[in-house]
Amino acid sequence: MSPESLTVLGSGVVGFSVAREARLRGIPVQLLEARELGAGCTPSATGVLKAPEHRRSPYLDLRHLSWEDWPLLAKSLYEESEGLEVGFSLCGGLDLRDRTMKDPQQAIEKLYGSGGTVRVVPEAELKSTLPRVRRPLGDAVFIEHQAVVDPGALIKALTLSCQNLGAQLRSGLGSITLCSEDGKVVLKSETDIKLHEPSEKHPLVIAAGWESGFVVDGVREGQLPLEPVRGEAIALDIPAPPHIVTFDALLPDHPDPAGNRSRFSWIPAPDGSSWFGNSVGAKDSTNARDPQPTQAGKSHLVAAAETIFGDDVGSLVRGHWAGLRPKATRHGGPLLGRVKDVDGVWMATGHYRTGILIGPLTARWVVEAILGEREIPENFEEPSAGDLSH
Ligand SMILES: Cc1cc2nc3c(=O)[nH]c(=O)nc-3n(C[C@H](O)[C@H](O)[C@H](O)COP(=O)(O)OP(=O)(O)OC[C@H]3O[C@@H](n4cnc5c(N)ncnc54)[C@H](O)[C@@H]3O)c2cc1C
Repeated sequence: MSPESLTVLGSGVVGFSVAREARLRGIPVQLLEARELGAGCTPSATGVLKAPEHRRSPYLDLRHLSWEDWPLLAKSLYEESEGLEVGFSLCGGLDLRDRTMKDPQQAIEKLYGSGGTVRVVPEAELKSTLPRVRRPLGDAVFIEHQAVVDPGALIKALTLSCQNLGAQLRSGLGSITLCSEDGKVVLKSETDIKLHEPSEKHPLVIAAGWESGFVVDGVREGQLPLEPVRGEAIALDIPAPPHIVTFDALLPDHPDPAGNRSRFSWIPAPDGSSWFGNSVGAKDSTNARDPQPTQAGKSHLVAAAETIFGDDVGSLVRGHWAGLRPKATRHGGPLLGRVKDVDGVWMATGHYRTGILIGPLTARWVVEAILGEREIPENFEEPSAGDLSH
């Protein structure tokens, strides 16, 4: 049964994509944003899209399917927004991580499921491809199936697409939450607007990023397993590399036994310069809910950049920004599907580091599930209280 209307909370890549998918199926849509449109972490992303090495878990499979969808999505958004490019470019990636350079052949064997061409790039070729790199190089690995997109342009294109498809977009509403009134669950805004009670006829999709849990806190026991994790990036006045370059920089001030904090990416930026980011971000529990970039985050990125560009790179920093990424605090990817114990309420959140890649496809899945056309794999459901792990 098709719902009579759909309400979406949040205007990041996920909320906009839910609104778009619903409009493509003819459902009347109202998208409600607490702040201005695109106020969350989506425009702060660095826009890297990577096919995973294999698809041996539902989350890796989702990432693969999302990867396969992106070229068509970029084309459709171009048409729906009447000519706005989202900067999708299949630029490929160079893997310069220490482990890869030690044994490139073994690294290639591990990439058996990535889909495109993978090959060893001999040191001489690498040096001529990356003349700006000052550190000693060896053989590396080229991975064809890596791409970039411009997250700022993506938000603009999604906004135009939703408007042109007839979605009603409302911003500046203040926080919108669910509360109980006379035994019913109702949606409340800080401003005085009329909102549907969520139901099977009028479903609500919560796509409010890391704040999604606050929406349901007042109407049920237990919190959604979500936390904000800051991600930071810098812009460098260095010409864009031809490929996304991934490398390690072990920094004495940022110990990380798991190795994640030492992995950095040098990314071709949409304006032809370079972006530089880290896949994890600096730990800063004191300001965990503050989306502002931090001095510690910047020093960390500059120190890592110095290891490949040399000591003068600090003077080439042209921008520094941050965003709070919605991380699901259980393993296995985003939180998708019905919110337990609240009728007519669905969630699409917890996309953490891969929301630009997977957000559009997860939005389609949620809309198809609302229409009864798809079952979302149970790995993405809200876990029972006993299943939670960090
Ligand atoms: C530095 C950085 C680099 C990144 N790089 C990449 C990358 O290379 N590739 C990739 O795939 N991903 C990347 N990401 C992750 C990606 O940006 C996120 O996963 C994604 O943007 C999350 O989108 P979202 O729509 O869930 O949330 P958001 O974009 O945060 O949107 C949530 C929206 O909900 C609104 N809201 C909150 N509460 C309410 C409420 N109660 N009512 C109404 N509205 C509400 C907020 O104001 C906000 O506009 C990166 C993130 C950062 C910060």
